[in-house]
Amino acid sequence: MEPTYTIQQTLVSASKKLAELSDSALLDAKVLLAHILGKDLTYLVTWSDKELSNEQLSEFDSLVDKRLSGEPVAYIVGVKEFWSLPFFVAPSTLIPRPDTETLVELVLEHHQNANVSLLDLGTGTGAIALALASEQSSWQIEAVDFNLDAVKLAKRNALNLELTQVKVYQSDWFGAIDEDKSFDVIVSNPPYIDETDNHLSQGDVRFEPKTALVAENEGLADIEHICRYAKSYLAHKGTLYFEHGFEQAHAVRSILQKHGYSEAKTAKDLAGNDRITWAKLFKQ
Ligand code: GLN
Repeated sequence: MEPTYTIQQTLVSASKKLAELSDSALLDAKVLLAHILGKDLTYLVTWSDKELSNEQLSEFDSLVDKRLSGEPVAYIVGVKEFWSLPFFVAPSTLIPRPDTETLVELVLEHHQNANVSLLDLGTGTGAIALALASEQSSWQIEAVDFNLDAVKLAKRNALNLELTQVKVYQSDWFGAIDEDKSFDVIVSNPPYIDETDNHLSQGDVRFEPKTALVAENEGLADIEHICRYAKSYLAHKGTLYFEHGFEQAHAVRSILQKHGYSEAKTAKDLAGNDRITWAKLFKQ
């Protein structure tokens, strides 16, 4: 007779293997197993003594092997949680990060009225725009990405989360945005990593699209581009928010000031790193 393994035993042995590669080995193993079983993570705890079938074990082993080759868990299972919402992910877009939830929090804290028009530039999976829409159903939110696969994915996420009031379309930054539009808030998590950054050859980012990660001019080129053009699309007293690298806060505030924005401020992410900078535009 074939030996049998419980959920608990399977997780322990897989997390030992995964520990060579991942800082979150046990969680990785749990997410992969829950995906195979079609259950959530609490099921694994509640049913830790349940034996797995040979078929489940071999499917699980093949996912563990993929993970051992470096592939991010989110791409293997096709889903990543952001703002407690499930987002479909694909290699055409960045995997949503907890750091970006700080941007969502700040926007919700600063803008509490029911009538806000907001633009999310480079939306990827739609994470920022859809998280905001989930909290403020009456806001008028538009989300754009230059990558058509990202646009399709963000639309799929909007549909799945029943947040189809968010208008998702293809635009290379402001390229396809109606010139008459005026937004109270513009947000972006643009590419901001310098191409020589050795962080790019480590971990999950190796599998993510370079176009979503890397920008010229020490990672600041897209931020500067957005600052320059956002002025025409922001309302009087409108606010522009960026996620940026942990060492870029000063540079981002300087770029904002250079382009005529006022009251630039920076907030830290949950890990204590400078991550989000925003400023206001006062028009004549
Ligand atoms: N925060 C991501 C990372 O450092 C990068 C995201 C981005 O470039 N927008 O892995």
